[in-house]
Amino acid sequence: MPLHSTESLPQPTERSELLQRLASVGQVDLAIIGGGATGLGLALDASLRGLSVVLLEAQDFAKGTSSRATKLVHGGVRYLAQGNISLVKEALHERRHILKNAPHLASEIAFIMPSYACWQTPFYGLGLKMYDRLAGKYGLQATQFLNTRQVQHLLPGVQAENLKGGVRYWDGQFNDARLALALARTAAAQGALLVNYCKVTQLQHHHGRLNGLIACDRETQQQIPIHAKTVVNATGVWVDDIRALDTTQQNKAHQALVSPSQGVHLVVDAEFLPGDHALLIPKTRDGRVLFAVPWLGKVVLGTTDTPRDDHPSGPLAFAHEIEFIFSEAAKYLARPPRREDVRSIWVGLRPLVKPSRSRAESTSTVSREHTIEVSDSGLVTVTGGKWTTYRAMAEDVLAHMMRHGLLAPLPACQTQDFPLLGANGVNHARIVESAGLAAYGSEAHIVQALAQPHEVAIAPGLSPAMVRYAVRYEYARTVEDILARRSRLLFLDAAKAAHVAPQVDAILRQEGIEDTQYEAFISLTKHYQLAST
Ligand SMILES: Cc1cc2nc3c(=O)[nH]c(=O)nc-3n(C[C@H](O)[C@H](O)[C@H](O)COP(=O)(O)OP(=O)(O)OC[C@H]3O[C@@H](n4cnc5c(N)ncnc54)[C@H](O)[C@@H]3O)c2cc1C
Repeated sequence: MPLHSTESLPQPTERSELLQRLASVGQVDLAIIGGGATGLGLALDASLRGLSVVLLEAQDFAKGTSSRATKLVHGGVRYLAQGNISLVKEALHERRHILKNAPHLASEIAFIMPSYACWQTPFYGLGLKMYDRLAGKYGLQATQFLNTRQVQHLLPGVQAENLKGGVRYWDGQFNDARLALALARTAAAQGALLVNYCKVTQLQHHHGRLNGLIACDRETQQQIPIHAKTVVNATGVWVDDIRALDTTQQNKAHQALVSPSQGVHLVVDAEFLPGDHALLIPKTRDGRVLFAVPWLGKVVLGTTDTPRDDHPSGPLAFAHEIEFIFSEAAKYLARPPRREDVRSIWVGLRPLVKPSRSRAESTSTVSREHTIEVSDSGLVTVTGGKWTTYRAMAEDVLAHMMRHGLLAPLPACQTQDFPLLGANGVNHARIVESAGLAAYGSEAHIVQALAQPHEVAIAPGLSPAMVRYAVRYEYARTVEDILARRSRLLFLDAAKAAHVAPQVDAILRQEGIEDTQYEAFISLTKHYQLAST
């Protein structure tokens, strides 16, 4: 389909051009390290306020934690139970902004908390009414008490034995990796320069003050110095590695800021929880929350909360975490999933902020709120928080930097009402359903314009045109970038992702990418397949 002459093409993300710009950028107002939700949100906020911004991501955008979430845009029922009212309230407000600014990537979803004891419906119902009240004018649909028949009707996959009604409430869900990309591209459209596969290896100081950094292009190993008036470390669970580079005469020892907590998800076919309602169990045997959420045509089960001392880039599930999800799901699903039913398993690390001085024993008690630290040299570190609160975190970081005299006063924040690329004139996508073109929102016709005659889909919801679009306009460099984060096939069905990888590889080569990391991707798919672990 040809483009109309009045329609502008999205900004190309040709790598050699991005690197050329990076090498000749001069001094920037703000260099951001880390291209997850936190760094990308900051890049957008800062560029909208007129700052010159460079963002460097060591891997692919969102490859860290920001593509491995439960995919909920939520206040957090668990945090309500913990009495963390301010966190819940802020997140509920942010939920509304995400739903409004990215309607192609986020939508409302109804959750049901089934009751298996008479006291549960009134008890949980009252809590959820409070959740509604905290949202205030930003609220979604009202919480409802349900009888047993209604629960079975809306949630046909639920365990019916001893069921005594339940409560329905509303929250949001989203496509995390694609929201990250939308943030990256929207920031780029505002003038920010964002480069993936560019790792920060050194911080540079002048008379004890931070004044730049050195980045390494992971494809060519070229070292690129960047001069920056300010530097923000937004590297999630990896913030302490960057803080360790901030070593000057005045600024020597660092206490670790982050305590990683691992979360595992299992993905099964939609028949295990038919319909468009999600299931939430507020208290599992060890006091955690269990979700079963329809997402992009599958059902996501999770998650866990396991403290880790290390922070690998590709964390793997522990056997006890998998057993925990199976055994808890078996209690609440009419048809308990077995090992062979798992289509994908993914693992992420939450960047939880340690309480100062003491080392936390249990990560569920460690703060979910974000922390901002300014070092003696001027390095700003931001970590913690949630995907849902990325926008508020960015606003906070810039306010903090102004308060510390690192930035001159800036114009007011604009991100509350700033639609992301693809959002204009789009109705809410149904994230419970398979994504396909709907995930591109108002840009869908540009994707379609890249289709060649008689081409067939690579997999449901993934076309050759989408792969071309990902290379030309969405920073994709490898087979994994396409199948894990532009399309979400790896997260939905790892065996199928391995099966279609050769087709993706061939298109990437046609697009001029020589090293598509094909072999590495095939190895990676084995970690996402439970049957093979
Ligand atoms: C299991 C799980 C479930 C979750 N579910 C939800 C949910 O449903 N809803 C919600 O709101 N939140 C959820 N969260 C929390 C949310 O995902 C995180 O808070 C958020 O993604 C953190 O984003 P970030 O940008 O701080 O970190 P990251 O996404 O990890 O980004 C940091 C980036 O820094 C890069 N980096 C590291 N070192 C360097 C370097 N030297 N140079 C350049 N780049 C570097 C990394 O590659 C990485 O991409 C969940 C988290 C987990 C683990």
